[in-house]
Amino acid sequence: MTHFNAIDSWYGAIAAPISLSTTFERAEDGTYPRGYEYARDDNPNRRALEVALAELEGGEDAAAFASGSAAAMTLFQVLRPGDEAIVSDDCYFGVREMLNHFFVPWGLGVRFVDTSDTQQLEAAAGPNTRLIFLETPSNPQLRISDIRGAARIAQRCGAVLAVDNTAATPILQRPLDLGADVVIHSTTKYISGHHDAMGGALVTRTREGLWSAIRRAQKLCGCIPSPFASWLTARALPSLAHRVRYQSESALKIAQELSRHPSVERVLHPWLPAHPGCDVARAQMSAGGALFSILVKGDANRAMGVAAHVKVFTRATSFGGPESLIEHRASIEAPGTKTPPNLLRLAIGLEETQLLIDDLDRALKATE
Ligand SMILES: *Cc1c(COP(=O)(O)O)cnc(C)c1O
Repeated sequence: MTHFNAIDSWYGAIAAPISLSTTFERAEDGTYPRGYEYARDDNPNRRALEVALAELEGGEDAAAFASGSAAAMTLFQVLRPGDEAIVSDDCYFGVREMLNHFFVPWGLGVRFVDTSDTQQLEAAAGPNTRLIFLETPSNPQLRISDIRGAARIAQRCGAVLAVDNTAATPILQRPLDLGADVVIHSTTKYISGHHDAMGGALVTRTREGLWSAIRRAQKLCGCIPSPFASWLTARALPSLAHRVRYQSESALKIAQELSRHPSVERVLHPWLPAHPGCDVARAQMSAGGALFSILVKGDANRAMGVAAHVKVFTRATSFGGPESLIEHRASIEAPGTKTPPNLLRLAIGLEETQLLIDDLDRALKATE
């Protein structure tokens, strides 16, 4: 992005103002000459965010939502009963729960497939497949799905290809350039970047077909972000590339260090040569990202014990902010999760790398 905020034409403010008005004045002839009518339909802060997100992902337009979950819901909402969606089986657990509790009972056919295996994806795709929904890297096992391969399969069966790009961000991966039709984000994570604003977005490659259905659902169903949340999220965009690159470099150093640690069974980080998705990751991402997981040697108790002993990391869910977070993932996910019990998910923040390495080393040793 070459520039971030338009200068406010009224006062010349450099920082964008927050426009709280829910309604906008109509002219004598009944038109809306300034382009805004009612804030659920559109408002200046949300629009500024949407334009910036579309530019970052290389799409024609974007729709912002109250959360990443609301963005995902909207994508499934524009499908019809009897349609079929193929979804990565290691996708964000909230999306899996949403599908099982709401969309399957409403008549959407959902198949959870290991999309990191393109052959499995190909075998699952059929004439009723309307949507292929990849999460890559996936959360929390960091599986990598081949976006170009999935795009070919989607095209063959006339389905829409959606990619959840929350973990990679458009700084490290641009799915629309690789053949996806729509990108989904939880902007709650890296995009807003400070653990202080919930949000989500759908960015589409074109303004045809799917786009108008998404915009209609955004307007009519109303899962929109507030002007303040939109403003906070847009405010974090100028630093996005710098934050993500630093966090990603730091994460790789920590992952390399941990992969030599005697108390660590495995490190799930897509940039490590031992990762099964490493080649595909390197072909479609510019770096491995700042979210990764480790399997500690031992059971769930040992993993919990490691999390209990950290001092620099914070024990909390989510990722993408300045503070590094550590999470025992299986215990927060729904019952029946396939997440290994000894898995700890690490979200690397903006602290100095060595502080984080020392913190983990100390916590691992304390549980030996
Ligand atoms: C957090 C997350 C979501 C859900 O987003 P919310 O903003 O928490 O509703 C969806 N997908 C991925 C990959 C996520 O990490």
